[in-house]
Amino acid sequence: MEILTSNLGYPRIGKGRELKRALEGYWQDKISEDKLKETALNLQVENWGYQREIGIDLIPVNDFSLYDHMLDMATMFGFIPKRFKYKEKAPVPLSLYFTLARGREGIAPLEMTKWFDTNYHYLVPELDTMPCLLENRPLISYSLARERAGINGKPVIVGPYTFLRLSKIFLDKGSLISALIDVYKEALISLKEAGAVWVQMDEPALVLDLDERDIRLVEEAYKVLADIGLNIILQTYFGALSFYERIINLPIGAIGLDLVRGEENLENIRKYGFPSDKILSLGIVDGRNVWRTDLNKVSNLVKEVLEVAKPKGLILQPSCSLIHLPISIELEGDIDSNIKGRLSFANERLKEIVKLARMLKGEEGIKEDVNNFEQIGCIPEVRERVKHLKASDFERGIPYEERRKRQQAVLNLPLFPTTTIGSFPQTGDVRRIRARYKKGQIGEGDYKAFIRERMAYCIGVQEGLGLDVLVHGEFERSDMVEYFAQKLTGFLVTKNGWVQSYGSRCTRPPIIYGDVSRKGAMTLEEITFAQSLTKRPVKGMITGPVTILNWSFVRNDIPKKEVAYQIALALKEEVLDLEKAGIKIIQIDEPALREGLPLKKRMRRDYLEWAVKAFRLVTSKVRPETQIHTHMCYAEFSDIIEAIDGMDADVISIECSRSQGDNIDVFEKFHYKKGIGLGVYDIHSPRVPSTEEILVTLRRCLKVLRPEQLWVNPDCGLKTRQWEEVIPSLKNMVKAAEILRGEIAK
Ligand code: GLN
Ligand code: ZN
Repeated sequence: MEILTSNLGYPRIGKGRELKRALEGYWQDKISEDKLKETALNLQVENWGYQREIGIDLIPVNDFSLYDHMLDMATMFGFIPKRFKYKEKAPVPLSLYFTLARGREGIAPLEMTKWFDTNYHYLVPELDTMPCLLENRPLISYSLARERAGINGKPVIVGPYTFLRLSKIFLDKGSLISALIDVYKEALISLKEAGAVWVQMDEPALVLDLDERDIRLVEEAYKVLADIGLNIILQTYFGALSFYERIINLPIGAIGLDLVRGEENLENIRKYGFPSDKILSLGIVDGRNVWRTDLNKVSNLVKEVLEVAKPKGLILQPSCSLIHLPISIELEGDIDSNIKGRLSFANERLKEIVKLARMLKGEEGIKEDVNNFEQIGCIPEVRERVKHLKASDFERGIPYEERRKRQQAVLNLPLFPTTTIGSFPQTGDVRRIRARYKKGQIGEGDYKAFIRERMAYCIGVQEGLGLDVLVHGEFERSDMVEYFAQKLTGFLVTKNGWVQSYGSRCTRPPIIYGDVSRKGAMTLEEITFAQSLTKRPVKGMITGPVTILNWSFVRNDIPKKEVAYQIALALKEEVLDLEKAGIKIIQIDEPALREGLPLKKRMRRDYLEWAVKAFRLVTSKVRPETQIHTHMCYAEFSDIIEAIDGMDADVISIECSRSQGDNIDVFEKFHYKKGIGLGVYDIHSPRVPSTEEILVTLRRCLKVLRPEQLWVNPDCGLKTRQWEEVIPSLKNMVKAAEILRGEIAK
């Protein structure tokens, strides 16, 4: 049986984030369109060359994008929403492409949302016109790869089911579907004519919950596409297939399954076998996490699969596209060699695949040499503490009603208290000074003095505005997760481990390799300094355990739940120190709680249960007088409102302004009793909201919430904004709260 090696997608951003620089340069008019395209092509040529050189047989093309692959699909098929008024039957110009992605004065961009349960964000296509193949992007990539790198690449295309499932549809579905299948067909036929042999149709949506109608649509689409005579690999990832038996019997040549996240796929192979006339593509090394693969274990697994399934051929590949990993561990330089030896980023993953194929082919002398997979960074006391947690460790003890009275006696806040979410503008000078401090160009004393000066300014501004509950401004934090990762044991913070979040934006997720504990106080110095400057309460500000976990690469030798509890115990010490130092309100941010939700509904309960418990573990031992806040940025929480309630925070703040108050309706059905601030100021836009519009939102809130519950705040941190926008916006916000108080008093 033939064994081939493959990749599903290579990181786009470049070793030195060349794509980011070129994009931002182009947007700022510093480089030309040609220069941007040249940079993009050079990156692709380099990536293709690398993959060929190390021995990948099926090299992906069209996996690259100047912004996002869903946007590429939409523009390729002419799905330019009517509001953009594009009537040409020609490829979308680059300026329009970026307007769709980023908007411009007076025209909103496509909505952006998370790609399944990853930290990558895609643009949501809006289908309000019939499709038309404006530009065959996979064909262009295919031809370029052939010319420039001499490879017969494997075009990657988002398949029709996933494309539809992730889009907003404003048309009659029946006629849209058949027209869409036609344009797919047209694109694939040209690819075949150009000489393409393989094509990868990405259908990750097949691992979501599907119903009979969905699976029929998949069957209908692939029956048509199969007739073209290309080797279609129906590629699924991020979990196990929902309709295994039906999918494997589609009339196509190859099926790609994720064996890393989709354990059930393996059970299904055992149970139902695999057709002997099809190629089995196995996602066998992890495209979502950074731990080196135990190739002995994995090669045994493949052998086991081949005992029950007798496919026509075998393709070995990562579990999903490698865009979710940094490029190479070799870019890290001087990290602890003990940890480095255990890591695999994108390039190392591909080498694992090649080596695995050679092991399976029984090549002489190819063995997995290191068997060094035992635990590192062990702290026995931390393990013990987690092991001995009791029910009471997760309970606040005193019920909310009673806590509320005691807190009010201490805080004496007015009706509709005003506050912000934590960060204030991180202007260029703050980032520059931090960069210089990190390079050792300025000393710790000077850096700290600078941060203190900023905090003092920030407290002054907030007092001047008349806000009721103040914050220190988070000037010392580069990133809300990285900051804590640096102050906890068991975390590795990388220098170049960039992963694309969206467009030109990248994050550097820390790597949790060992047991987590606090090295020392993390926030105490800044918070107590800020509090010393004012009589009003300053909120302690901490990133929650679930967010730290979900925005990091997590060890996989112990359950995630245990890692979450370890982080929670470390944060709990910080919370208690803050309380001891006289801080009366502590906010624990959990913006990433929702995104950790498993893709399949039936698996959500378990996650929510431990996620909520991790939060409670941080907060359970504070005095009833100490007010616990939490913050989440998103709007869709109707399906998790019970879990949010279960966190038992005294006050929560959530997004509201962007979703035009859709959030508020949840409270008609769900009787929420505790304090709640529905964000009335959209911080994602430079626009200054007027007092009147803030009042409209607040009044809407008051239809379903009691006045004593309602807080007034922006919908997220102000870090990305400018002072000139923030000050008038907050002024209007405070004014709105005052007007409302006046009305109620009457
Ligand atoms: N406290 C954080 C801030 O204000 C919260 C950020 C977030 O929700 N993503 O920046
Ligand atoms: Zn937020």
